[in-house]
Amino acid sequence: MVALTAFVVLRQILALRDNQRLLGTVDGQLSQLREYQDRLTHQATHDSLTGAGNRALFEQHTQQLLTDGETFHVALLDLDDFKAVNDRLGHRVGDQLIQETSRRLARTLGGNGLLTRLGGDEFAVVVRSADDLPILLEQLLAAVEQPAELDGATLRTAASLGVTGARPGDDPAELLRRADVAMYAAKGTGGSRWQWFDAGMDMAAADTARLAADLRTALRDDQFFLLFQPIVSLPGGTATGVEALLRWQHPERGLVPPDVFIPVAERIGVISELGAWVFAQACRQSAAWSARYGAAAPTRISVNVSARQLADPGFVDTVADILQTTGADTRRLLIEVTETAVLNADTAVEQLHRLKTLGLRIALDDFGTGHSSLSLLLTCPVDVLKVDKSFVSGDTAGRAGAIIVKNIIGFTTDFGIDAVAEGVETAEQAEHLHGVGYRLAQGYHFGRPMTAEAYEDRYIDQPALARSGGAV
Ligand code: C2E
Ligand code: CA
Ligand code: CA
Repeated sequence: MVALTAFVVLRQILALRDNQRLLGTVDGQLSQLREYQDRLTHQATHDSLTGAGNRALFEQHTQQLLTDGETFHVALLDLDDFKAVNDRLGHRVGDQLIQETSRRLARTLGGNGLLTRLGGDEFAVVVRSADDLPILLEQLLAAVEQPAELDGATLRTAASLGVTGARPGDDPAELLRRADVAMYAAKGTGGSRWQWFDAGMDMAAADTARLAADLRTALRDDQFFLLFQPIVSLPGGTATGVEALLRWQHPERGLVPPDVFIPVAERIGVISELGAWVFAQACRQSAAWSARYGAAAPTRISVNVSARQLADPGFVDTVADILQTTGADTRRLLIEVTETAVLNADTAVEQLHRLKTLGLRIALDDFGTGHSSLSLLLTCPVDVLKVDKSFVSGDTAGRAGAIIVKNIIGFTTDFGIDAVAEGVETAEQAEHLHGVGYRLAQGYHFGRPMTAEAYEDRYIDQPALARSGGAV
């Protein structure tokens, strides 16, 4: 009996121990499971490259703050030149830059808010509203813009930031949308700055969206046409060529200027199609003038090409196709590109060389407004340099403009490049330009952009009239 009792007790003790061991194991497994679950949750709400929160966390967090009726702000930050870094230095350095940017933002933000990476080079910061918010935003920008040592190279980068405050009825997507509009406004005014969202901007964004929708159908509905502005020789004012300038006859808005719709066309990706139409139209006009007037036809037609078009790898092939189908004489065509389109863009420079081999001439447009890197003249096959109108008749005309204008003619002559002074509005300006050495000019003083018929009338059929007539 005693033995039996002892046996039962022993078994119970052993069982208890087993249970405890089992419990211990289960406990261990449970905490492992918990850890695993935490890791999964972390992965689902954090970005693997930087360790910052991700879009899901941004949504969760802002939704919670909205539900709780908290007052807070959302700031969206985007690097200004990230694509160029990726293209030039490769994705590895691009990734390093993102990581470094994230570290700096996190360090500057400290415990004052939540940092999330929405993708690419785009970060969203959620902060409690406070009077010193502008200071924090300045600090975030300054932190990102400090030079970074990556892969042995010193990299300087700039960022733009848009910020908006939460309002009743908002949702996470609406907050991001407003911050995005503000961020693009910051970029649009040169970047490297921050910008509040305001309602006016919202209206402008809605208007641009409508314009974008209309642009998609405008080509199909034949709403575009070209005007031609004479480029004349100095001092006589005889037309030697024309620049083709695009116009959009909108059914409700009337005439929309290219400064308004070209950037939209670039953004929504219809610029290549539109640019091809412009080039084809200019080629047809050139061929028609040659057939009709022979030697009296304009020596050259200039066509503007935007940065986006030049970045399109199919651009030169499209140009070659159009030349062939229209039968235009390549020597009579000139492509105008801006400095910014070719600066730091290897593809663009390569495309220019290919255009040259097709027999086209190249003009560098709006010279003096961009970075004006003279080294461009060594890498780009430039035949013509167009001095920006701001130095001739615009804001910068005057002493500084005069010095720039004079210097440009000095080195273009040395380089064997033709210089065209744009924006000549008065006889005095024309005289001065001729005096410092310019032989080619363009501007309202000689002729505004006009239809092909008006051009024929004034400059080919009755050229003497144009020379004595001055501005229209
Ligand atoms: P841009 O290439 O610099 O063209 C010259 C602009 O200056 C034209 O404006 C012209 O009308 C204007 N202009 C000419 N003479 C004078 C003058 O004496 N004084 C002043 N103040 N302005 C003068 P427009 O036609 O409004 O074109 C604006 C810009 O839009 C062009 O600047 C060009 O960058 C772009 N653009 C025009 N057509 C096309 C096109 O077919 N494709 C592309 N990608 N861009 C185009
Ligand atoms: Ca131009
Ligand atoms: Ca220009």
